[in-house]
Amino acid sequence: SRLLNVRLDRLQHKMSQVGMKEQSSYDHMLTAEYASLIALEFNRNPVVNDEAAFDIYPPPPTVSRESLPSRPPVVTIMGHVDHGKTTLLDTLRSASVAKGEAGGITQHIGAFSVPVPNPGGEKRTITFLDTPGHAAFSAMRARGASVTDIVVLVVAADDGIMPQTREVLKLVNRESNNVGLVVAINKIDKPGADVSKVETALLAEGVQLETFDGDVPVVHVSGLTGQGLPTLIETISLVAEMQDLRAEQTGPIHGYVLESKVDKGLGPVATVLLLRGQLTPGTSIICGLAHGKVRLLKSSSGQSFKAVMPGTAALVSGWKELPKAGDEVLLGTESEIKKALANRRRKADLEATIQDAEAINESRRAERELQQLEAQGELVSQQMNGEDEKKELRLVVKGDVSGTVEAVCGAVSGIGNHLAGAKIVAQGVGEVSESDVMRAKAAEGIILAFSVNTPRSVKAIASSQGVKIIESNVIYALMDEVKKNVIELLPTVT
Ligand code: GDP
Repeated sequence: SRLLNVRLDRLQHKMSQVGMKEQSSYDHMLTAEYASLIALEFNRNPVVNDEAAFDIYPPPPTVSRESLPSRPPVVTIMGHVDHGKTTLLDTLRSASVAKGEAGGITQHIGAFSVPVPNPGGEKRTITFLDTPGHAAFSAMRARGASVTDIVVLVVAADDGIMPQTREVLKLVNRESNNVGLVVAINKIDKPGADVSKVETALLAEGVQLETFDGDVPVVHVSGLTGQGLPTLIETISLVAEMQDLRAEQTGPIHGYVLESKVDKGLGPVATVLLLRGQLTPGTSIICGLAHGKVRLLKSSSGQSFKAVMPGTAALVSGWKELPKAGDEVLLGTESEIKKALANRRRKADLEATIQDAEAINESRRAERELQQLEAQGELVSQQMNGEDEKKELRLVVKGDVSGTVEAVCGAVSGIGNHLAGAKIVAQGVGEVSESDVMRAKAAEGIILAFSVNTPRSVKAIASSQGVKIIESNVIYALMDEVKKNVIELLPTVT
């Protein structure tokens, strides 16, 4: 869908229409012929490259699950802002370090494991994801992979149900077959806390809490004091037991990168959440366009260990390049990886070429529109006998990197005709600032912001100064807006 530049659901819909419903799951590997047929459906010209028909793919699901070893659940804590997610995670993270161990210093790596007390029984743990903003979570969801087994919905007892609480409930409902829900009513230490009010409100939202004989467990906690956290751990563990999570500990590996960064000492490092197999030092791995050989494996408490097991995460060093959060991690022999990398790079180049080609088509379209615009202008100018001066739409252009600023300037500067046209008065990299607003104001122009934010304070100044800011991360959207504004400058035909 990325190559065709259509949304995944549209692609799947089209595939169903042409009788390929069974092949339309996100992880189905299409043959070259089928892929070509689909490309034709979208009016594209497919070119089959047999040479490139090689890559490393995630291992297929196993047939007999029952015989596999169980794995820890992967848990994401979600909820409305300020309801205490970070505090809860911090308290849980410090519980992940056994007393007296390594000075108890924990590091944020995107995930950590908490032991489940189980006297006499096998050693069990729970893996908590704490990826900020759930960026990797969304990236993985976007490609149809769900890595979360259980969502803990945090609701502050002194605040109740808020917009993001409802969003989480919607998300969990959509995924109800794959994701378990535990409600944690938080901040019960606070004087204004009203647990039963929150529970009733949740019931009204359709959450069948255990309190009311439903099947959604609810725990009363305080992330601040630690009250109720052992019960929370126990409850998550029980839900996981019901889910009966299992995974192969041998054979091919399959995981996802949660976070990555360049470490001063270790070079590129990435937190890998493993879903299948065992990750050990010396393993050759590939992740998107990055690859490497596992050197060190470290936990969030800074300990090195010898193997990452399914359902757990570890900081992995040994990458030749920095892998991207949300990308799939797979293993292969060195020659397989070499071939797959060459193939993936070629594919990435191809995608870039396609995008360029689309940009060219788009600029041709713009040119045609321009000609029409000019023809209109010609008409106007004949009627006006060229009395008036050329009108200018003055622009201040801001963008995220210098390359895009250039691209935006190039794309919009040609818009217009001899009666009215766009003129760039200033350009720069970075978010829209107060001085940009002032510059635009002085020039009686507008601001184009490509892929950059405008701080709220600057927006306020702009609106008080009557300066229009057009924001987009799509060049054509900006071009369209500029065109509209240029057309408005044209003298009206009477
Ligand atoms: P997040 O936005 O959901 O991550 O919320 P935070 O963890 O940042 O918490 C927001 C505020 O609530 C902070 O000032 C915390 O100190 C406070 N807070 C979080 N948990 C508790 C709790 O259990 N009890 C009390 N009294 N305050 C809490």
